[in-house]
Amino acid sequence: MDGTGPPTDALALGQRVVAVLETGARTATYKLATLSALVGFCVEHLPADPAAALDVPIDALAERVIDLYWPQVRPFDGHRLRQSSQPKARILTAVEVLRGAANAGGVVGLSIARLRMPDLYREAVAEVALTLAQQPLYRLQRLPGGRGEPFLYDDSWLHSGITRAAIARHGGVIRLFPGVAAALARLSGLLTPTLEILWVQDVRRYNAFLDEDVPDIAGHLFGRDRVSLAKPRVALREAFGTQCFYCATSLSDGNPVDHVLPWSRVPLDGLANLVLACGGCNTDKRDSLPALAHTERALSRDRTVLEQLAADIGWPTQYDRTLAAARGLYRSSPPGTPTWQGRSRTGTWDTVFPPGWVVSTVPETGFT
Ligand SMILES: [Zn+2]
Repeated sequence: MDGTGPPTDALALGQRVVAVLETGARTATYKLATLSALVGFCVEHLPADPAAALDVPIDALAERVIDLYWPQVRPFDGHRLRQSSQPKARILTAVEVLRGAANAGGVVGLSIARLRMPDLYREAVAEVALTLAQQPLYRLQRLPGGRGEPFLYDDSWLHSGITRAAIARHGGVIRLFPGVAAALARLSGLLTPTLEILWVQDVRRYNAFLDEDVPDIAGHLFGRDRVSLAKPRVALREAFGTQCFYCATSLSDGNPVDHVLPWSRVPLDGLANLVLACGGCNTDKRDSLPALAHTERALSRDRTVLEQLAADIGWPTQYDRTLAAARGLYRSSPPGTPTWQGRSRTGTWDTVFPPGWVVSTVPETGFT
């Protein structure tokens, strides 16, 4: 690799991302969060043409970064977890303010907080977006001392003193080089867990008390059961009956609520990504990508029913995001990728897509 311009192949790009992360002395987890947000955005906005460039609104990255830190700012063993070796923590403070206000009446997820307090939510996004532009975004692709050519996007206009007005003059977006979005989406299954491992290591380093008895810090930072799914469980039972979505077995009370697209790949808690499952199917499926037929069936549930349920219980459907994420995950999976078909049966990636999946109809910004 000659170091100029983006690598054309996904593996080379992934190696370069990991090299930058490993070489640069990380003094905070913000780079990891930004990269993770970028990968998630690419999955949901996979261009139809794999060689295309992609504009990524910095506000959309900020929303994803807030989502990542949302569970992480809650106290761990009575401690506020440090995410940096520096005392200043603008991103964490912004998330804490929003979370504190949103959780006054009980713990809720970020998508609920956004519905309930749109003004505070917008303030938090604006603050985090500015911080991203001033810090991690212009350092993300560089080695220590600012060395190295950008290979993900042009960052020459970003710097630590950039203002909101200057960001707006650039359209509020970073433009990924041609082919980068498709490569990052394709690498998401490798990069996402890698970033989480590095993140856990960093948090241990910044918080000396964690070394002593090795509590489950990974579960605290990235656990999937951070939000109670009791409300969706009741609503889904009433609307769709009490059978397991996958094997049709009759469900007892308190059955698992399953994320159709695995939480470890796309953290979507909206009704469009939730189904009722028996304990057997839920445990067997774990973090697997389900066979396309399951996902199609989940997404072909009556959308007006889902929207009505969502309105009744004050919970988002995230229908467009779930559809976009599904399209991104399946289309960027290489042939032969195993998918989960049913209990104790693992099939392989299906190459047939519903026609609507090929055309991007989802908005470029915002959470639904
Ligand atoms: Zn089942």
